[in-house]
Amino acid sequence: MTCLASPDLLSCTQCPLHETRKVVVPGHGNPHARIMLVAEAPGKVEEEHREPQPLVGPAGRRLNMILERVPLDRASLWLTNTVKCKAPSNDLRPYPNTVILCPQLWLDKEIAEVKPLCIVTLGATSGARYFPGLRVMEMAELQRVLPDGTVVVGSPHPSYALRTGGEWNRIDESIRKSLLRAKEIVDES
Ligand code: URA
Repeated sequence: MTCLASPDLLSCTQCPLHETRKVVVPGHGNPHARIMLVAEAPGKVEEEHREPQPLVGPAGRRLNMILERVPLDRASLWLTNTVKCKAPSNDLRPYPNTVILCPQLWLDKEIAEVKPLCIVTLGATSGARYFPGLRVMEMAELQRVLPDGTVVVGSPHPSYALRTGGEWNRIDESIRKSLLRAKEIVDES
């Protein structure tokens, strides 16, 4: 089920990425989720533009494997991205204003609507909003409580685990521990 895919979001022209994107990729999942995963931006693979949903390409499949090992049911979660459009060459570095503006326009509204108890940030772009100045492995498994009580847990991105190779590695394990922490937080609430 897709919600929060408002016509305003799907036709957004507030930043230069609208000139090169194929589609806007809205968040997807359980709109009543207690855990929200926030990744970076749509990937370059076809699948993510065909569906269009966050994390359905190779990084999403890696995430699925990790979710199984927590275990956490993907269908119970809300998955989304910090930036809703793909950047040319998958590189957000030339678009620092977008990285600030897009989540202010859309992600913050999405969080207010889904009202998760816990947000897991996947990767540096997503984590930087909550753990400024930290490198991604310094954010991993770190926890911060926001003024409204929402708990944010930092995690590496599953594409980082993919790039480091191997069937299971320390990045997968760090993501698994971050997700497990999120599960414990909501189970204890
Ligand atoms: N696909 C997404 O939707 N988000 C990412 O961060 C990477 C791939």
